[in-house]
Amino acid sequence: MKAFEAVQLYFDHAADELQLPENMRTLLVTPKREVQVQIAIERDSGDVATFIGYRVQHDDSRGPMKGGLRYHPDVDLDEVRALASLMTWKTALVNLPYGGAKGGIAVSPRDLSIKELEKITRAFVDQIHDVIGPDRDIPAPDMGTDHVVMAWIRNQYEKYHGFSPAVVTGKPVELYGAEGREEATGRGVGILANKLLKRLGRKPPETRVAIQGFGNVGSHAAKFMAESELKVVAISDISGAYYKANGLNIPHALRYILANKHSLAGYSEAERISNLELLELDVDLLVPAALGGVITAENAASIKAPIIIEAANQPTQPAADAILDERGTIIVPDILANAGGVTVSYFEWVQNLQYYKWNLNRVRQELDYTLSNAFENVWQVAQERKCTLRTAAYTIAIERVFRATLLNGIS
Ligand code: NAD
Repeated sequence: MKAFEAVQLYFDHAADELQLPENMRTLLVTPKREVQVQIAIERDSGDVATFIGYRVQHDDSRGPMKGGLRYHPDVDLDEVRALASLMTWKTALVNLPYGGAKGGIAVSPRDLSIKELEKITRAFVDQIHDVIGPDRDIPAPDMGTDHVVMAWIRNQYEKYHGFSPAVVTGKPVELYGAEGREEATGRGVGILANKLLKRLGRKPPETRVAIQGFGNVGSHAAKFMAESELKVVAISDISGAYYKANGLNIPHALRYILANKHSLAGYSEAERISNLELLELDVDLLVPAALGGVITAENAASIKAPIIIEAANQPTQPAADAILDERGTIIVPDILANAGGVTVSYFEWVQNLQYYKWNLNRVRQELDYTLSNAFENVWQVAQERKCTLRTAAYTIAIERVFRATLLNGIS
C-alpha cells in the first residue's frame, strides 16, 4: 500500500467516526497547492545535472503551513503528498496554529559534494520563494537535510524578501535556531511513554523497552527513557541490534556512537541480534524509530510487545495495524508520538517572530506541557468513543481542521 493510501485509510476511519459527508472529506483531503519544479545545476565536473523538487501545501485553514524538506532518491509526489497531509493532522492534533506541508528533492545527497547540495538548495529556493515564507509555509529538516541546509534556505530566501529567520525552522542554534530542537522528537517519545505508563498503571523500572533505530530520534528517546528509569533492553541501527536482558547502559552506548561515527557497529556490551528479532522481542514497549513500514502483516503476529510507540513516520502498515488492534496492542500513533519535533519547531518560529530567545529549560517545560495535553486529549477521546488511540488522534485533528475550514467560510 502506498503512503498516501495508508494516510487516506486512517483518515476515512476517523471521518466515519465523525460522520463527515463526502464533499467535506474531499475538501479536507485535497491538497491546496502542489508545486513541482525542475532544478538544473552545473556539477563540480562541469556537467549539467537536473533534479525534480516538490512542495505540497496541504491545508492552511489553521495557520501557515509547516513541514519538512526531504532529500532522498525515492522522493516522489505520492510520498510528499502523504507526508504533507500527515503534517496537517499532526499540527492540528498538538494544537499548533499551523497547517501542513511537505517538500522534497529526488536526489541522493551522499552522491553530491557540499557545494553541489548548496547549489541545488539555493536553486530550489529560487523556484519556490514566492509560495513559502514565515506567514505562508515554513520548511524544516527531514531525511537527508539538516541545520546547514536550513541556513542556506534562509539565506537564499532573504535575498528576495529581506531579514526573515522565521522562514525555516531547525536552523543552527547560532543562527536563530532553538535550544533543544535536536533532542525534541526523541524527548517527546519519552514524555509520551511516561504518560501512557502512568495511565496503564505500569511502573517505569518494570518496563522493558526495545528501540529500533539509534539516530536522532532513537538515541534521544533512549536517553530520556533511561533517565526516567525505564529499562531499555535493546537498541539497534543499520549495523544490527544489541540486546541485554537486564538493561543496557544507555549513557555508555551514547558515548560509543559519538566515538564511532554515529554507528553501533562493533558494540560489544550486549548480545548481537537482528533488527527483525528486536521487533519480536518479549518486551513491554516497542519503539520503531528508524524506517517506515517495518511492522507488516507478516511479522505483526510475532510482535509480543503490548505497547508500541510509533516514533518513526508510518512504521506500522495498515494490515499490521488491524492485526495488532485485534490483539489489543496499544499503539501511540506517529502523528502524536513524533510530534515533539514540530512542537519545538513551532517554539523556534515563535522566538524568531518575537526576536526573543528562550532557554533550554523553558523549551523543555513547554514541550512537556504541549505533548501532555495532546496525550490526555487523545486518551480521553479514545475512552469516550471506544476506539484506538490512532482513530482518536485523527478524529481530534480532523474535527479541528474541519471546524476551522467552516469558520473561515467557504465562498
Ligand atoms: P536518523 O537518520 O538520525 O536515524 C535513523 C536511524 O535508523 C539510524 O540509527 C539508522 O542506522 C537506523 N536505520 C536505518 N536503516 C535501518 C534498518 N534497516 N534497520 C534498523 N535501523 C535502521 O533519522 P531520525 O531523524 O532519527 O528519524 C527516524 C524516524 O523518525 C524517521 O522515520 C523520521 O521520518 C522520523 N521522524 C523524525 C523526526 C526528527 O525530528 N528527526 C521528526 C518526526 C519523525
